[in-house]
Amino acid sequence: MVLRINGERLRADFDELAQIGATVAGGITRVAFSDEDIEACVWLGNRIEEAGLLADDDDVGNMYGTLPCADANAKTLLLGSHLDSIPNGGRFDGSVGVLAALECLRTLKEHHIALPFHVSVVNFRDEEGSWQSLFGSRGMAGQLRPLSLLDTSTDMTAFHASLARTGLHPEMILYAARDPQTLIGYFELHIEQGPYLERAQTQIGVVTHIIGRTTLDITFQGQAGHSGTTTREARRDALQGAAYFITKAHEYVRENFEHGVFNCGNIVVKPGAYNIIPEKAILTVECRHINEQVLQEMEKTLMLIAQGCANEYMLSVGHRRIQHMPAAPMHAPAQAIIAAACERLQLTQMPMVSYAGHDAQVVSSITSSGLIFIPSMGGVSRNPAEYSKWEDVTNGANVLLHSVLLLAEHVRAGEA
Ligand SMILES: [Zn+2]
Repeated sequence: MVLRINGERLRADFDELAQIGATVAGGITRVAFSDEDIEACVWLGNRIEEAGLLADDDDVGNMYGTLPCADANAKTLLLGSHLDSIPNGGRFDGSVGVLAALECLRTLKEHHIALPFHVSVVNFRDEEGSWQSLFGSRGMAGQLRPLSLLDTSTDMTAFHASLARTGLHPEMILYAARDPQTLIGYFELHIEQGPYLERAQTQIGVVTHIIGRTTLDITFQGQAGHSGTTTREARRDALQGAAYFITKAHEYVRENFEHGVFNCGNIVVKPGAYNIIPEKAILTVECRHINEQVLQEMEKTLMLIAQGCANEYMLSVGHRRIQHMPAAPMHAPAQAIIAAACERLQLTQMPMVSYAGHDAQVVSSITSSGLIFIPSMGGVSRNPAEYSKWEDVTNGANVLLHSVLLLAEHVRAGEA
């Protein structure tokens, strides 16, 4: 008989956790390092201890519960996701991955399954970027420097204060970096947050790539002047140049990149009065692509287009990269293991791209990583109405369990 997780126990956990930060709309608000997030972590810590796992945390606040193997020097397989949410987010995003990982460890423990590696459930902190995007996984991957705390667009004092109340110190985040040599891999289960699996009537998505994204500020600089008396030839209107750029940028990405996205989500105009020619227009834009090299080329060309638009309106233009999350292919052996787990469980599967960022994107920079998707009803996410059928959650958890077992078989056979 094929080993399976305890679906009822997983459901009980899910319902209990969903009470922490519950909103009237049926969603949750568990913003990173808030009271609710801390309460959820305490709750998880209690479940880890109840399950007889070794509880631990690191210098960015990530939590671990480990099922050790007989060989103390063995490597560790990580399974997890995040418990934090956006304000008024859904109950499934992140939570499903952490709870399924915990349930897998309990199942392995109660069936006395000996593995050739340690397995840890991990809860990565601030995946949603309430303070800094993918904070916990970047800390573990050694990608944070004490200075990076200055990058946050949110008030630094408040960020420091929320770290402090969680017992974390900005100058210690370097020490969260984990030696890649101690890891054998990472598997994450997550809801798709898009409509593709449901449309294809497929139970499991095997993620091949996680999209990369770059966020930029682009500033067009002209000259303020009287809106009525300045002659047409003398006008150096920063907003006109910026508007021209937005249209050109959308055209360029739409026509040249099948898997590319451009978005301008904010414009600040200065001095910002109806009767003064705009001196400055600051755009906040984002580009996304599944291929890192193509993403970087896209960014370069967009800057050339911005320069062309600026010339046309006698403006100068400058840009500042706010954040860059490299595109990440998932590791082929991890994808093969997930696909084999689906076959063993007789679940339908398809390869797919993730257009949203996930902890697996960062963890893949230090260890072999795989990402498992389950359908999101109607593709709805980042919304209290976010929903995945319970059967799909259970299927996803079983795929996670069998991914662990299959990896163990490969290691024993000397293939990993
Ligand atoms: Zn998530």
